[in-house]
Amino acid sequence: MQLYKEQQIKIYNSLTGKKETFKPIEEGYVGMYVCGPTVYSNVHLGNVRTFMSFDMVFRYLKHLGYKVRYVRNITDAGHLENDADTGEDKITKKARLEQIEPMEVVQQYTVDFHNILNTFNFLPPSIEPTATGHIIEQIELINTIIENGFAYEVNGSVYFDVHKFNETNEYGKLSKRKLEDLIHNTRELDGQSDKKNPQDFALWKKAEPQHIMRWPSPWSDGFPGWHLECTAMSTKYLGDQFDIHGGGMDLKFPHHECEIAQNEAAKGKSPVNYWMHANMLQLNGQRMSKSTGNTVNPSELLSGDNKFFSKAYSPSVIRFFNAQSSYRSVLDLTDEGLLASEKGFNRLMDAIALLNGLKTSETSSFDVASWKQKCYDAMNDDFNSPILIAHLFEATKYINQIKEGKETISEADLVNLKDTINGFVFDVLGLVNSSNGDSGTDKLAGAVDVLIKLRQEARANKDFALSDKIRDELAEIGIQLKDGKDGTTFSVN
Ligand SMILES: [Zn+2]
Repeated sequence: MQLYKEQQIKIYNSLTGKKETFKPIEEGYVGMYVCGPTVYSNVHLGNVRTFMSFDMVFRYLKHLGYKVRYVRNITDAGHLENDADTGEDKITKKARLEQIEPMEVVQQYTVDFHNILNTFNFLPPSIEPTATGHIIEQIELINTIIENGFAYEVNGSVYFDVHKFNETNEYGKLSKRKLEDLIHNTRELDGQSDKKNPQDFALWKKAEPQHIMRWPSPWSDGFPGWHLECTAMSTKYLGDQFDIHGGGMDLKFPHHECEIAQNEAAKGKSPVNYWMHANMLQLNGQRMSKSTGNTVNPSELLSGDNKFFSKAYSPSVIRFFNAQSSYRSVLDLTDEGLLASEKGFNRLMDAIALLNGLKTSETSSFDVASWKQKCYDAMNDDFNSPILIAHLFEATKYINQIKEGKETISEADLVNLKDTINGFVFDVLGLVNSSNGDSGTDKLAGAVDVLIKLRQEARANKDFALSDKIRDELAEIGIQLKDGKDGTTFSVN
């Protein structure tokens, strides 16, 4: 039986502001779309956090046995500088500054994005479509929206008619904004726009002569609006209505609001059943920002080459740190926080290393089955990874006490404990226990084993001076050798 039949997830739906029981449109299948990066610069650490949170969601859904189609796009055209309908295309601007082709910019930063995500042990999405690869779909979508009366053309550009849409639908329902308030709060810039109303947004923009990235369309040689690509690609691969749409909190308005409007205008239905938004990442209690210098990029964090952190942190420690907060909380990146996570991560890995050598007993002094269900309950509760980690630490304590002979575990429970820990730690949280030293545990165990063998040889040769020296000097650095009838074991204090 698939696990999802017995484990019921609840998801906090940003649209309703409530935790709701997750029921996919088709049993056993999940369609999930997450807005990907605009590839005009190295990926921002805040974006890595967002994608990391959705990687965990993807992993947990798969762990439960769902067949997940996870679509995460690459924005390689149409994203203008100020996120609205004015300014230069971000990729074109970079290409101009560096005097290279826009597609060279796209290639360079797509490769960078993938490299960083691979370093952090992300699972690749099922489909990673690009905006430029779906121009035809976007033009078709605009045609439908015009036919349905929700868009108009002016001077070769096409705009979405927000006021018209709001007569029959509800614009602003995701971000909890009212059109009247938006009207009140928007200042009209002197006649620089062709729009009927400042709240309208571009579906197609006519390209200025200097704009290199352009495609022919029924209206002009131009390019699609940024919001449109996500509607075109999500519905192409997941259907007009699908299960989960994710992204960073900053995309709620206008980007996701416009996605809803476009979909309702074109297909007559709301596209998404569960909207999920990951919260922001801060650095030392402050917003990360290039202009104030309060920023660190993923490679600098990993190499330790930065002014904020005392050392380099491994990708798994950073993943562990992220999972120690809910994806819906603001996460504050600090050196103390990372050091504490590193300690916790090592403690967990050390306990996992002990699992293989644990002695079993007739009975268990710990209820493994109910502990296991508590782990699932945590993740079922809107992917509450910090609570899951608290349960993993409970198991860590138990494992150490079994090792010390203070608790017992039966053979069957040990198998269950091992499977559960491995499933959550490596499959769901995506952590890696690299033997070349996330924790150094494996190397240490190997080195001490070499010394134990040398000591045995010394004793066999009646060289007690040497065998005592090995034992005493290890003890001095906190490694205790214990001679038992099954051989010599060691513990680290
Ligand atoms: Zn998007």
